[in-house]
Amino acid sequence: MIITIDGPLGVGKSSVAKEVAKRLGFTYIDTGAMYRALALKTLKKNIDINNLENLKKLIEETDIQLIYENGSLKVLLDGEDVSEEIRKEEVSKRASEIATIKEVRDYMVNLQRKFGEKYKNIVIEGRDTGTVIFPDAELKIFLTAPVEVRIERRYKQLLEKGFNIDYEKFVKNFMEREVRDKTREINPLRPAEDSVIVDTGNMSFEEVINKILILAKERM
Ligand code: C5P
Repeated sequence: MIITIDGPLGVGKSSVAKEVAKRLGFTYIDTGAMYRALALKTLKKNIDINNLENLKKLIEETDIQLIYENGSLKVLLDGEDVSEEIRKEEVSKRASEIATIKEVRDYMVNLQRKFGEKYKNIVIEGRDTGTVIFPDAELKIFLTAPVEVRIERRYKQLLEKGFNIDYEKFVKNFMEREVRDKTREINPLRPAEDSVIVDTGNMSFEEVINKILILAKERM
């Protein structure tokens, strides 16, 4: 069974997807982490992302693995654990930029489908998991919440992780990424027609999880 969870920045996709996967005993796949891993590599190697030839070459030489064990996800970039490093603000910004490039999206969609085939029972989250990666998924969830709520949630989360961030810069970066996700030409963020829209603005975390679990069990 495939459960897709899409939605905008800061809506809580990762926490929700991780918890649903845990309760169902499914494998959790974070597609954003894969964009982040490639983004990190372009930063480390100082690649000009507007130079398509260099970017294509970099993609060919890149190995991204997601290891899901005991409820936590490890992201390996060319064998190195980059799970923490990919959460930095500069990586978020770069990930959102490269996510507009066709070659990058083609590579990711292909890789993400392979992960799905390998693990069978999965909860996969991102921006296009229900529209593009798994259009035939048994259950598609689209999470929403007002932008102010999402900004506060994400900001708190980064502080809790110990990141030292400038609030104004953070909000500017957040809004730029939000616009890019919604307006990019290739696979922009949008709910799949057959998705269930869950507005989490006035719901507790537990309520969101229960709602998804009920929907999942109906479809099993
Ligand atoms: O979800 P997360 O914020 O970690 O994703 C990082 C970036 O990767 C997002 O800003 C988004 O632009 C991009 N992304 C995407 N499609 C996905 C997952 C992430 O375009 N399926």
